[in-house]
Amino acid sequence: MTLLDWITLLAVVTALGLLAWRWRTEHARAEQWQTVAVIADRRLVDARQQLEALESQIAALEVAQIDGVLVLNQQGTLLRLNATAHEIFGPGAIPGESLMTASRSAELDELVSGARARQGETDTQVSLEGLPYRVRVHLADGGVAVVVLRELSELQRLGRARRDFIANISHELRTPLTSVRLLVESLMTGVAESPEAVRGLYEKINTEVNALEQMSQELLDLAQIESGQAVVRLVPVSVRELVEATVSRLQPQAVRKQQGLTIHVGEDLVALADTEQLSRALGNLVHNAIKFTPEGGNIRLAAHRKDGDIVVAVTDNGPGIAAADQPRVFERFFRGDRARLRQSGTGLGLAIAKHVVEAHGGRIWVESEGIPGRGTSFFFTLLPNS
Ligand code: ADP
Repeated sequence: MTLLDWITLLAVVTALGLLAWRWRTEHARAEQWQTVAVIADRRLVDARQQLEALESQIAALEVAQIDGVLVLNQQGTLLRLNATAHEIFGPGAIPGESLMTASRSAELDELVSGARARQGETDTQVSLEGLPYRVRVHLADGGVAVVVLRELSELQRLGRARRDFIANISHELRTPLTSVRLLVESLMTGVAESPEAVRGLYEKINTEVNALEQMSQELLDLAQIESGQAVVRLVPVSVRELVEATVSRLQPQAVRKQQGLTIHVGEDLVALADTEQLSRALGNLVHNAIKFTPEGGNIRLAAHRKDGDIVVAVTDNGPGIAAADQPRVFERFFRGDRARLRQSGTGLGLAIAKHVVEAHGGRIWVESEGIPGRGTSFFFTLLPNS
């Protein structure tokens, strides 16, 4: 072989070697890519399955409508929430908001941050918008946190409220009874000699007996509502006559506190109502206005037509109701702090009024600036006869 032949052979072998090496490298790379693709695919399937499981969990809870569910990303931004969570937090809670903005609860925010920091599940109780909730925080892959909120059962809450109620009502009934006993003793022992002094004692007895009567009536009304016997029979009723009858029943209490009780109701307003029940509901509002407004105050009863309804308003110029208490005043057994300290009561009057108004197809609400002297207005609607 000539030198040229050798060189040619070497070139061919080198070229073949290079080709073989390239083929092998590319083959290995292809194999590598294939493995990566398989792993990625498997991860994708896993992720999709996890997501599907999460979605179906949330969907199940949405159907049940029991729990509020919030899904948060690693940064604490709300990814999604179900209808119950919407109800708990209101319209401000939307995906894209931070948990703090959406829930307005530093306690809940800290709870989730704590669970993340500890990398552990959390199961505890938190008060949201004044109601007790069981809160569970689950940590999922990718920093996702699922927060499940369950309102402590109505029964549980009522059970606790009832226990408090029995303790309180015993005290509430005992206070006027003790006063009556002492006043009667004073009368019997002849401590009060002048006719004015005797009259003064009788008036005090009358006030205490009124308080006892109102409380026992509220207890009876509650028992009737609970037993389902409070059936509403709607008939055409003159609103003015109904208001006048209620006012004349309570006028003596207002006179004793030198309060003005005025009526501003046209004669032509006719509503569909159950006179007995509605007059009791209205009576509870007027009774409260007299009770909470100081001596010399004014209470105004008015009614007018609005948007196809009849709106009845009871307005006083008493201490008002703080904004924080306003959403709670219609709850059973709720009593404001001031009321608990200074006035007799069951915490049932407004809950009964709400029940009666709603059974009439109406709604009831309160408006107050919460400033003493600026007073409170309670409104409720009634269906007109025509
Ligand atoms: P109570 O037996 O305490 O009067 P209610 O259900 O009638 O119970 O009222 C609930 C609470 O609402 C009261 O304890 C009081 O704090 C508040 N409230 C009701 N009416 C008035 C009013 N006219 N002025 C100020 N506060 C009121």
